[in-house]
Amino acid sequence: MKRDIPFFPYPQMFLAHEAELSQVVLDVLRRGAYILQRDLLEFEADLARYLGVKHAIGVADGTMGLLLGLMAAGIEAGDEVLVPSHTFVASAAAVHFAGATPVLVDCGRDHLMDPASAERAMTPRTRAIMPVHLNGRCTAMEPLLALAQREGLLIVEDACQALGARYQGRFAGTFGAFGAFSFYPAKTLGAFGDAGALVTDDDALAERVRLLRDHGRGPDGQVQLWGFNARLDNVQAAVLKFKLARYDQDVQRRREIAAQYHQRLKEVPGLLLPPGPEEDPRHFDVYQNYEIEAERRDALRAHLEAHGVRTILQWGGHTIHQFAKLGLRAEVPYTERMTGRFLMLPLHTALSDDDVAYICDRIVAFYAAS
Ligand SMILES: *Cc1c(COP(=O)(O)O)cnc(C)c1O
Repeated sequence: MKRDIPFFPYPQMFLAHEAELSQVVLDVLRRGAYILQRDLLEFEADLARYLGVKHAIGVADGTMGLLLGLMAAGIEAGDEVLVPSHTFVASAAAVHFAGATPVLVDCGRDHLMDPASAERAMTPRTRAIMPVHLNGRCTAMEPLLALAQREGLLIVEDACQALGARYQGRFAGTFGAFGAFSFYPAKTLGAFGDAGALVTDDDALAERVRLLRDHGRGPDGQVQLWGFNARLDNVQAAVLKFKLARYDQDVQRRREIAAQYHQRLKEVPGLLLPPGPEEDPRHFDVYQNYEIEAERRDALRAHLEAHGVRTILQWGGHTIHQFAKLGLRAEVPYTERMTGRFLMLPLHTALSDDDVAYICDRIVAFYAAS
C-alpha cells in the first residue's frame, strides 16, 4: 500500500505533546512574561548543564549566535574565516556581517570539513576556522585543533545541526571559543519559530554576547556598546526547556532509525551512506539529517516521490561556492561532485519502523530494477 511520508511533519512537533505544550505556553502567557524572563534563564541554565559549559545564552536564532559570537571574539574587517562550502549560507553570512571574509573549504566523505583542504586555504589573513557539525555529527576535531594551535587561529563552531553530538566524549560546540546552536523548528531541538543559543566557557566573551543581544545594554540599563535586538523570546524558551528535558529520548529514536536505514541500505550498490551509529566509537551522532549520496539521484528522488516519500536536497541542492552572486570561488572538488549526488531521506521522531522499512524497500527496488 502506498504511504504518504512527509519529509518533516511540522504539525507533529506540537501534536505529539499537545496537552503539556499547551500548558507550558499558556502558563507563560498568563504571567505576561515575554522578554528576558524566568523561562529564558531556566532554559539557559538547563542547556549549560546539558552541555557542561559555563555559559549558554539564548539568542534570536542560530545565525545571530554565529554573528554575535564572531563579533565578541574580535573577528573583524580584513580577517578571513575558513568555512566549509557544504553548509547553510548563514555560516558564511555571519562571517560577512562581522566584516570578515569567508574562505570556502572542501568536505570529505562524511560531508564535514576536510582538514587538508582547510590547510590549503590558509593565508596570512586567516584568523579562525569554523567547522560546521553538519547532519548531527561532530567533526573529527584533532587535525583542526592542531592546525589552529600551530597557526594561532580561533576555532568557532557552527553546531546548529548538532545539539548533543559528541566526539571523543566531548560535545559539539564546546571545542572552540564558542559554539552556536539553532532551534529552527526542523532542527533536532525545534522551537515553534526562530530560536538559537551560543555557548562558551569564556566569561568575557559571554559578557559581550549578552550585551550585543540586547542593544548593548548592561544590567543597569547603561549602553556599553552598539548592539542588536537578538534576544531569544521567553515563550520559545519555555517550549525549549520542556523539550530539552525529553531530548535524549528523541536522539535515541533518531539513532534507531539511522541504524535501520544503515542495516537495510548498506549493501545497496550506488549508495554512499552516512556512518552508522555504532560504526566509530569516537563519534556519537544525533542524526539531524540522513544525508546519503546516490547514483542516478534525480531518478531515485522521482521514484520515491511517486511512492509518496518526500526527500530534500540540502540547501536546495547548491553549496555556497555555487551561488555566483556571492562571488566566493573555491577549490572544492569533493563538494562539487557531491552536489550532483547528495539527498536527504526523511528522519524524524514521528517516523515509524514500518515507514523506514517502506522507504528502504522502495530504494532497494529502484536499484534492483536498473
Ligand atoms: C539552521 C542552520 C543555521 C542557522 O540557524 P537559524 O536558526 O536558522 O538562523 C546555521 N548553520 C547551519 C549549518 C544550519 O543548519
